[in-house]
Parts: sequence; structure tokens; C-alpha cells
Amino acid sequence: PGPVGVLALQGDYREHAAVLESFGAEVITVRRPEELARVSGLVIPGGESSVMDKLSRMFGLAGPLKQAIAAGLPVYGTCAGLIMLADRMIDGIAGQQSLGGLDIAVRRNAFGRQRESFEVDVHVPELGDPPVHAVFIRAPVVEEVGERASVLAALSDGRVIAVEQGNLLGTSFHPEMTSDFRFHRRFHNRVLEVGFHS
Ligand code: GLN
Repeated sequence: PGPVGVLALQGDYREHAAVLESFGAEVITVRRPEELARVSGLVIPGGESSVMDKLSRMFGLAGPLKQAIAAGLPVYGTCAGLIMLADRMIDGIAGQQSLGGLDIAVRRNAFGRQRESFEVDVHVPELGDPPVHAVFIRAPVVEEVGERASVLAALSDGRVIAVEQGNLLGTSFHPEMTSDFRFHRRFHNRVLEVGFHS
């Protein structure tokens, strides 16, 4: 496969690049269609989804990103990246669009003011023990999970915070800010398995 891309329009893409490099992957930042065309997988980082949306359209990347997702590019979205991957947004700002791909509806900034940021250990059956230490920063939740998507993790109150659908993986929290990279591993294993090229 080709290099792994990290969408670098905005947000904490450097941290994701460092995680993937620690696996020995070749990592490139993606800001243009020519860069996207080289990658065999893509991480969409956390940040601000409305800004990422605007920049992706301004840079002519939104269309190629949608095409690559539809063609089977493995993509891992965290937080704002999860919002970008959602087919439906419950409270995007006016005119905000997502790329889509995941058959889910997300609610942005779902945890209210005093809980805007928090950390909690979450059991993720697919990853086994130990639980994942999940860091939430003005995080979205997955409010509806359509038939094509499956739940990987939920909080104890049932709110869904990690989903998977084919080559797409999304978490509402930030594993790149911890030292537990099992979600990145899962994504990277998929990248190696699929061997995607445009
Ligand atoms: N609240 C942000 C958004 O709506 C996401 C926050 C994050 O990525 N940490 O895009």
C-alpha cells in the first residue's frame, strides 16, 4: 500500500501522524487532491468540523474525499472527524456539510457545558482488555445508528461513542491524546489488509 494520510486542514493532525509513524507507517499530510490520490488510508483528526468542512470545500478536497470514501478508502475519524464521516448531522451550523459514509446521525457538542471535556474508561468488546481510556473534548455523540453501521463502544448510559462500517471507523473521543493506540492499530491493520489505491 501507499502512505497513510492525515487530513491536515485543521485540528490535531500532528498527534495522529506521530501515532502512525510509531507503527513504522509512512505518513503524509493531506491538503490537496494530489496528496489524497497517493494514500491508502486517511485519518480525519479532531478540531472543528464546521471549519474543516469549509476548508475541504475551499481546497477542492470535499469531492475527491467523498469519492475516495465511496471507493473504499479506509478512513478513521476522531471527534470532528467522526462528524465529517456521518451521513447525518443533527445540529450542524448553518450550511455545514459532512462528507458522509457512516450510516449514523451525530449530535455535535453533545455533552453540555460543564462536561465539555472529561475522561472515562470504556469497555470496547472488539478490543478486549483493558478498557480504553477515552478523552472527550466538546465531543459529539452518535444519536442514531443505521442498519449499515455497527456500534463498537457506548458509555454506561448507552450513548454511542465508537462505530464501524466496512472500511470506516469513527470515535467521538481522542485516542491520539493517550498512550493506547488500539483504535489506530485497528485502522492501520485495515489499511494494510485493503491495500487501497486510487
Ligand atoms: N466540537 C467540535 C466540532 O463540532 C469537535 C471537537 C473535537 O474535535 N475535539 O467539530
